[in-house]
Order: sequence, then C-alpha cells, then structure tokens
Amino acid sequence: MNEECVRDSDKITPCDALGKALDGSYHSGRKGVTSLETVNDTSFIIAGFVLRSGGYVKKGIKLNYCPFCGNRI
Ligand SMILES: [Zn+2]
Repeated sequence: MNEECVRDSDKITPCDALGKALDGSYHSGRKGVTSLETVNDTSFIIAGFVLRSGGYVKKGIKLNYCPFCGNRI
C-alpha cells in the first residue's frame, strides 16, 4: 500500500491511485498517464510521469505533482 508517491533521488514509486491510473509506458505512445522509464546503474526505474491528452496528445506534458496524492513527482 502506497498512500503517497515517494521520490527517492531519481526514482519514483507511485501511490496506489497513480499506479492504478497508469496507461503504460511513455515509449509505447499510448494516451493517458504514462510512465517515463529510464535505466540507472542496475535496473529500470520510473523517472517521471507524462500525461498525453488533448492538445498534449503527441509529446505529452510532464506531471510535476501527482494529481491524486499531491506529492511532487
Ligand atoms: Zn501520488
């Protein structure tokens, strides 16, 4: 259970609501809330969340705050 998003240096662990709202990886080109993954020294990490919607459907717009728990992400 994650009630709030947690940011640990580059890595973000989403809260349950954001995790549930996720539509897939940014690289998949899907619409909606997507996760921006990157590789750190050892593994894939989620480095941000990008919303693809309306006028931002192509490139997307990076979310600075979680729309659910309000934490900075
Ligand atoms: Zn959150």
